[in-house]
Amino acid sequence: MSDLDPAAALVYAIPLRTRFRGITVREGMLLEGPRGWGEFCPFVEYDDREAANWLATTVEQIEEGWPEPVRDRIPVNCTVPAVGPERAYSIVAESGCHTAKVKIADHPDSLAEDIERVAAVRDALGRDGAVRVDANAVWDVDTAVTNLRQIDRAAQGLEYAEQPCRTIEELAAVRRRVDIPIAADESIRRAEDPLRVAVAGAADIAVLKCTPLGGVRRALRVAQAAGLPCVISSALETSVGLSAQLALAGALPELDHACGLGTVDLFTGDVVAESLRPVDGYLSVPRTPPIPDPALLERFRHPDPERTAWWRSRLERVLRLLD
Ligand SMILES: [Mg+2]
Repeated sequence: MSDLDPAAALVYAIPLRTRFRGITVREGMLLEGPRGWGEFCPFVEYDDREAANWLATTVEQIEEGWPEPVRDRIPVNCTVPAVGPERAYSIVAESGCHTAKVKIADHPDSLAEDIERVAAVRDALGRDGAVRVDANAVWDVDTAVTNLRQIDRAAQGLEYAEQPCRTIEELAAVRRRVDIPIAADESIRRAEDPLRVAVAGAADIAVLKCTPLGGVRRALRVAQAAGLPCVISSALETSVGLSAQLALAGALPELDHACGLGTVDLFTGDVVAESLRPVDGYLSVPRTPPIPDPALLERFRHPDPERTAWWRSRLERVLRLLD
């Protein structure tokens, strides 16, 4: 039973630098509890049941706190969108990161561009860097097998390929036919998914986000049950919500891969003065959530009263589900 007060929650709206998941403005709520601030930002199309996991993460953060970390900094990847090779090279070179995640399969005839982009990224990283690619679930099995083999050659060895196809069965089929490690991302949204992925032999790596899994502790149990190496990735939170993802990455018993947590710069602004922004490819693991800055809260306060009321009633409904 949580005693958080929906009426005291703040609703924010922060424009994104570029369209992401079809949205240009990120909306969510910020709440304060005895252990600090938390964020509640399920995407608007999610139903209340799904949103309840997001709220469980918020409640853990503001009322319970996180488990003790086992490391104090997390390597993060830079992200290379579907850009030309020169731009790809400079994004990687300027990032300070040793791992780059490269978006591929941006359109049906993308293979030649994907190959050029990935080769430029390898050039920028050097031999010791890690190149991973993300096709966002768009290929069929045969296309994935053919294209990934060529992209793997251009990359001089991929760290892994993330979600080349949509279903768990397709991922398993691709994985049987290529030597490239496969990571499951979109296939993992609910607590039982990582285990399904592991049992099906669909992936070598699980991409986890604690926010939709119901908190750091639950995500740790999910990771353990799956028995796969994990990569922690953001759910497009401000620094307040992102701090929980970092707490998870900090508490995982094993962490062999860079995480997808360098995401605050996807926003045009943040609600805290000192954003959780990587330095030389690393983010520090916070012990407590960062505290929002009053001036920034004011600046990003949702301008639309109707929308604000929509978020408040959503929070009230989801809170009842949680209790
Ligand atoms: Mg992905």
